[in-house]
Amino acid sequence: MSIQKTVTVDLGERSYDIVIGPGVLAQAGERIKAISPGARCAIVTDVNVNAAHGEALRASLDAVGIEHSTLEVEPGEQTKCMAVFEHVVGGLLDARLERRDLVLALGGGVVGDLAGFAASVTRRGMDFVQIPTSLLAQVDSSVGGKTGINAPQGKNLIGAFHQPRLVLADTDVLKTLSPREFRAGYAEVAKYGLIDRPDFFEWLERNRQKVFAFGPELVEAVAVSCQSKADVVARDELEGGLRALLNLGHTFGHALESATRYDGSRLVHGEGVAIGMALAHRFSNRLNLCSMDDVNRVEAHLRDAGLPVTIGEIPGDLPGPEKLLDYIAQDKKVSRGKLTFILTKGVGQSYIARDVPSSEVLQFLKEVT
Ligand code: NAD
Repeated sequence: MSIQKTVTVDLGERSYDIVIGPGVLAQAGERIKAISPGARCAIVTDVNVNAAHGEALRASLDAVGIEHSTLEVEPGEQTKCMAVFEHVVGGLLDARLERRDLVLALGGGVVGDLAGFAASVTRRGMDFVQIPTSLLAQVDSSVGGKTGINAPQGKNLIGAFHQPRLVLADTDVLKTLSPREFRAGYAEVAKYGLIDRPDFFEWLERNRQKVFAFGPELVEAVAVSCQSKADVVARDELEGGLRALLNLGHTFGHALESATRYDGSRLVHGEGVAIGMALAHRFSNRLNLCSMDDVNRVEAHLRDAGLPVTIGEIPGDLPGPEKLLDYIAQDKKVSRGKLTFILTKGVGQSYIARDVPSSEVLQFLKEVT
């Protein structure tokens, strides 16, 4: 019995399916042929993912007679840069792909963002398929059409909105992901419960171990996460307002990533988000918005998942509260001393607050650093 699930991102004629579950990678060829008969494919992937799953994808394309080539990049955030982007676009042109041919992004969020952006500009926009292989990419970065690379001036500053034609999320490929990366991706899963799905958060509290054991609960957790993101994207594709809710925990999280200079040995993105979500609840409690029970509940769940929840858990020295506030202000627009934050009235009751005084944030940071 198949336990695969399909979630649709509803964007009119640009709508697309996210197929989730074990065995999806082996079906890639037939599913790709169904949406783009006759298309040729360029697989963009990184060295780690190519070694673990590249052959399975190529075999699936071969089985239905799809012509393909592979462009391999180095793993890691530094790959999301102009030089590698140029290399990928050059590779797509050298392979003589045409607009209706397909770029297949096989990898984590780094490959998805890079290959998606390359697809968005090559020949003024090529079709592409996301084949996310990290938990973070399956529940977050592969859905919603944000693509891009980093600039020397900051993360994700060069990019485009470009929706994929299809997302293929094989939960079995997550078995080769490092446990640390798996946990980091789980922070984003918990995030959807904390934004506006209290029932889902409660379900995660009961089923987290089964999710981590690759049971059918993992498929369910990825599907609910994708549905949550798809709902927000369908209502606010270009981040005019509502989509900002997806940034729960990211304001503090990004500041901590900047403060550790994106050194993944100290802090990976999902760990920053976990600490950020715990801090967002603590901060909301300090502003008398949510109860201490809510804070304790969120922290307990993230801790159970093996995630950090306090700034003190980040190894090595960190800058003081004033500098952390600077990082927050750089990340989020400050208007007359007021910051935009995602705050919460309790588990699953987050909202966008556009008028948080930076003095309050500074006071809070002094208490928690
Ligand atoms: P990543 O792509 O660097 O992957 C993490 C590591 O895991 C890499 O070393 C990779 O080679 C390895 N890996 C991935 N899948 C594997 C597998 N199945 N088996 C073995 N190894 C595997 O990082 P990530 O956490 O997936 O993504 C982070 C990136 O996503 C960041 O650049 C971030 O900006 C971006 N992002 C984008 C969006 C968006 O909406 N576009 C949203 C969130 C994050």
